[in-house]
Amino acid sequence: DTIGADLDRAVAAWPDREALVDVPSGRRWTYAEFAADIEELAQALLASGVVKGDRVGIWAINCPEWVLVQYATARIGAVMVNINPAYRTHEVEFVLNQAGISVLFASVSHKASDYRAMVDQVRGGCPELREVVYIGDPSWGELLGRGTGDAPYAELSCDDAINIQYTSGTTGFPKGATLSHHNILNNGYFVGELIAYTEQDRVCIPVPFYHCFGMVMGNLAATSHGACMVIPAASFDPAATLKAVEQERCTSLYGVPTMFIAELNLPDFASYDLSSLRTGIMAGSPCPVEVMKRVVSEMHMAEVSICYGMTETSPVSLQTRVDDDLEHRTGTVGRVLPHLEVKVVDPATGVTQPRGTAGELCTRGYSVMLGYWNEPEKTAEAIDAGRWMHTGDLAMMREDGYVEIVGRIKDMIIRGGENIYPREIEEFLYTHPKIADVQVVGVPHERYGEEVLACVIPRDPGDPLTLEELRGFCEGRLAHYKIPSLLQIMDAFPMTVSGKVRKIELRERAVRGR
Ligand code: ATP
Ligand code: MG
Repeated sequence: DTIGADLDRAVAAWPDREALVDVPSGRRWTYAEFAADIEELAQALLASGVVKGDRVGIWAINCPEWVLVQYATARIGAVMVNINPAYRTHEVEFVLNQAGISVLFASVSHKASDYRAMVDQVRGGCPELREVVYIGDPSWGELLGRGTGDAPYAELSCDDAINIQYTSGTTGFPKGATLSHHNILNNGYFVGELIAYTEQDRVCIPVPFYHCFGMVMGNLAATSHGACMVIPAASFDPAATLKAVEQERCTSLYGVPTMFIAELNLPDFASYDLSSLRTGIMAGSPCPVEVMKRVVSEMHMAEVSICYGMTETSPVSLQTRVDDDLEHRTGTVGRVLPHLEVKVVDPATGVTQPRGTAGELCTRGYSVMLGYWNEPEKTAEAIDAGRWMHTGDLAMMREDGYVEIVGRIKDMIIRGGENIYPREIEEFLYTHPKIADVQVVGVPHERYGEEVLACVIPRDPGDPLTLEELRGFCEGRLAHYKIPSLLQIMDAFPMTVSGKVRKIELRERAVRGR
């Protein structure tokens, strides 16, 4: 179905239930009010000459207007292009031109980001950009004023492209995945099904909307089940997140592992009432076992779900189920979603591996993107002739169908011919009392090809651990070739806005620092 038709169903079934709450501003929408505002915005876009297939950009922090733009563009069949709010002029100019954006919605400013000033700088270089509408600014009202209220909507098909989402850029320059109604609506629906969302649920979404974690696993999962979306803050803030859960009695909380770590480490963590939580989603990168245990016991998220996915597959393809035991929720990323297929292949030969053997994970089914926007060669590299999406991740399928993620093919360290998976070493180092967070990467080495570097954020910056302590801790418990020979003490890791550590940058810094 189309996103508009799916929303109509929710509005008919639950007109008076809450659809959206913005905690910072205190604004609230019932489903009926939400649908009316979407209608008004959709009509205004039509009156401004936006037609089906036109690209409409959104470069904004989390706010209710983001969600209105998402549903209004889907209603008229325009292709919404999500732009990372951390982008600066060089990147935004690239996206505006690469996607051929004609209308851009943007935040005015947030913290150190002056979006209006940056738009002014690049506008001259973007010939296709005809209008910029700022959120919370008179230009928003001016746009709304244009709608006639009765312009007809174009005929839409569920296979139409309606969204371009750029990947996180963890391993290089972000790529624009082109997605259809069918891709993302089904994915949001099934993700919500598997954590048993109903119209009683209230979903706290501190992850960015610009990323599929927010707009699909958050917004679409919620609205396709009549649940309520709760925005705790414009950008991630651990204290504001827990406060929103308490105040709005949220039943579900999202985050990448680093966000949960920040929340659990708040000095006043114990003072928040989180008893309303029952579930949530942790995804995007591997979750340390210790963190998972605390999320289940101290955050009351007994049914928390682990999802694995990627932007190119709308995003989720593997997910744990509400009744899975803790071992499956820490050791695996769950099993395949309904109506999708996954397989693990030998990256060299493409032959399917037996269960229990690691290889490249591939996904097929409704969730696989239409392609990378305007990049047919990259699309052909990622999706093979049999429509299998090659994820670039190493995985292993257990006998029971649950899948373990071993790591990214690009992150694997090869030291003296031995394959080393950083995750295994990270999990182990995590148990050291002086380590708050740790990342392991390979750096070039003359004799071994690569050497193992541990980047550590110490619990107490005044008493960081030494390389001798680190090696002593590993000695006899890890194979000698896995024991880091290099240590870098840091106060923060370079991150993507979706909350992932950019290992590529850690590696580059280590090389530069020599
Ligand atoms: P880019 O493709 O631009 O380098 P990216 O791959 O990080 O960036 P996303 O599409 O946001 O961009 O993320 C998908 C990737 O995130 C997956 O390919 C996988 O490596 C990682 N990932 C997602 N979920 C999990 C998970 N539950 N456990 C481990 N890794 C995960
Ligand atoms: Mg990727």
